[in-house]
Amino acid sequence: MTFSNIMDSNSYSGGVSTDPETDELIQARTHLLGPAYRLFYERPVHLVRGTGSHLFDADGARYLDAYNNVVSVGHCHPHVVAAITRQAQTLNTHTRYLHEGIVEYSQRLLDTLPGEVDQVMYACTGSEANDLALRVAKMYTGARGVIVTRDAYHGNTEAVTAISPSLGGATTIGPHVRTVTAPDSYRAGAEVAARFLADVNAAIADLRAAGHGVSCLIVDTFFSSDGIYPDPSVLAPAVAAVRAAGGVFIADEVQPGFGRTGETMWGFTRHGVVPDLVTMGKPMANGLPVAAMAARSDVLEAFAREVPYFNTFGGNPVSMAAAGAVLDVIADEQLMANAARVGTALRDELARLAADHPRIGEVRGAGLYVGVEMVTDPDRKTPDRAGAHDLVNAMRERRVLISVCGAEGNVLKVRPPLVFSMDDADWFCTEFAGAVAQLPV
Ligand code: PMP
Repeated sequence: MTFSNIMDSNSYSGGVSTDPETDELIQARTHLLGPAYRLFYERPVHLVRGTGSHLFDADGARYLDAYNNVVSVGHCHPHVVAAITRQAQTLNTHTRYLHEGIVEYSQRLLDTLPGEVDQVMYACTGSEANDLALRVAKMYTGARGVIVTRDAYHGNTEAVTAISPSLGGATTIGPHVRTVTAPDSYRAGAEVAARFLADVNAAIADLRAAGHGVSCLIVDTFFSSDGIYPDPSVLAPAVAAVRAAGGVFIADEVQPGFGRTGETMWGFTRHGVVPDLVTMGKPMANGLPVAAMAARSDVLEAFAREVPYFNTFGGNPVSMAAAGAVLDVIADEQLMANAARVGTALRDELARLAADHPRIGEVRGAGLYVGVEMVTDPDRKTPDRAGAHDLVNAMRERRVLISVCGAEGNVLKVRPPLVFSMDDADWFCTEFAGAVAQLPV
């Protein structure tokens, strides 16, 4: 989520509606919540119900959800709802009492991670998980310097907004933070990994010269807010350089994790790296606030010895039941294979459309995470913010929900629930072809 981009191009604090009931709701919300809250689309959507990858508004109209990754196993999945209900009817406490739920889930979660990553701690948001990971990295390395990508988003606490340049505006990037250009394979081509490594090396040198030392490199392993860059060759050399400088690697899996990219459960696996710390959240419990930081126990040790950790809601029995049910559904419904199959078909069809439309510069992604880069000039690859904005709103009018990302707000972000079917992909492509046809060439 790139607030600076979304705010500029596809997010509205007010919104324009045509029906009085929606206008009233918008006004009440603005009055009560204040201007920090944003809505998507020029004509905001008021949803009342969801199932699978479909959503319904107050008039019963059906929308195709091609955006929401939190509900990754589908809106209101009955298996997850039943697990939550059962546990909520039985017991909900916290981690200072013994409970089997957290132990069983932790074993299952760690079984999906590389053997070296062997312990896990729980939180309620991705922000908290990243905040914790920064503390652990600092304690382990004794250094403070952090390397992030130029349009990264890692959350909303003070410590993680300091490493989230995509927030722009009033947000201050910390003096201990250095940014590197995201691996934009569309523009850098075969040079992409070498350029990324050179940037990371420059950041390492700069942090050392400033006396901060190197604590960590933290990246979203799909570079979501930077613009969706799936090239799997870029991370391994950069991670090796950071480790050689005494730092650790934190894989922020809040967006790519839990099977979104199809072939693997975790985004870092595609890059052939084993992280020191892994943070996760969003799709972890299909909408319940559940997040975690998994770690190599040797990296965690110094922090765990010094700091007694408690998170009132993190890892509670209801959260663990929900998270376990999500793992059940991913396996039972073979959602990673579905993401790979439907995602490939979707990208292939979008690439066919792109061939006829010069304003679509590139279609990229893996599994059910697709970026469509809009450009005004395909030869110069000039970002087309206005075109992306128009398309997102045209799709909304066609009742298909997407958004944008990237420093220039010109990359369409297509990131549906993993239950997205071939029929959903057809529906998407039909509406997308219609919306693109109406763009001025
Ligand atoms: N990291 C990444 C990569 C994210 O996309 C987000 C949320 N957009 C976060 C961290 C923060 O997660 P949360 O909103 O749950 O605090």
